[in-house]
Amino acid sequence: MAKILIIEDEVKIARFLELELKHEGYEVIISGEGREGLFKAINENVDLVILDIMLPGLNGIEVCRRIRMESQVPIIMLTAKDDVTDKVAGLDTGADDYMTKPFAIEELLARIRVALNRKANQKDTKSDKLQIGDLRINSASRSAYYKDDELTLTKKEYELLEYMVRNKNIVLSREQLLNHVWDYEYFGDTNVVDVYIRYLRQKIDEKYGVHIISTVRGVGYIIKD
Ligand code: CA
Repeated sequence: MAKILIIEDEVKIARFLELELKHEGYEVIISGEGREGLFKAINENVDLVILDIMLPGLNGIEVCRRIRMESQVPIIMLTAKDDVTDKVAGLDTGADDYMTKPFAIEELLARIRVALNRKANQKDTKSDKLQIGDLRINSASRSAYYKDDELTLTKKEYELLEYMVRNKNIVLSREQLLNHVWDYEYFGDTNVVDVYIRYLRQKIDEKYGVHIISTVRGVGYIIKD
């Protein structure tokens, strides 16, 4: 479910949008102030931002410009005035679309769908697709497949597998794998690597009767092309 941030200081409009968007099934967060909105846009992992131009604190144009320095999240600007310079400024700073208030909610919903679809498609074409034989990894969606089966991996299993596939044909020591895949609290305890290699082998090698992950005795592990 997409998470949408509304940055709008007019409480009535913000509430109205929140209700409509929730009704459509979106998760919604609201900010009534420019700086706080900017912070949320960057830190709350949102899928789309609806951004009013006239805001206290930092105006919408400036918020848009600063979001773009950090993130490519789709932004739909709202402007109260039918002012061409505002629209141009908004689009210049990297907004994806704009709507003039008052707007028909159906039209805004349609534009949200378009922006979200575009974002999903961009992700697909830009995604880093890694493949070794019948094993495929899509790092954008953090999923792994063997032939057409999606593997059910935990977060760490996935990260270990992705790191090994990215570094295919290189023998990776337990320490290297620990440093790249685990948090510092595991530092020094390399057994955790062996345990997770075993999980991956159960889910890939054993399940599909293949030999993808090799042990290099005394050194570590390798995935070969
Ligand atoms: Ca406003």
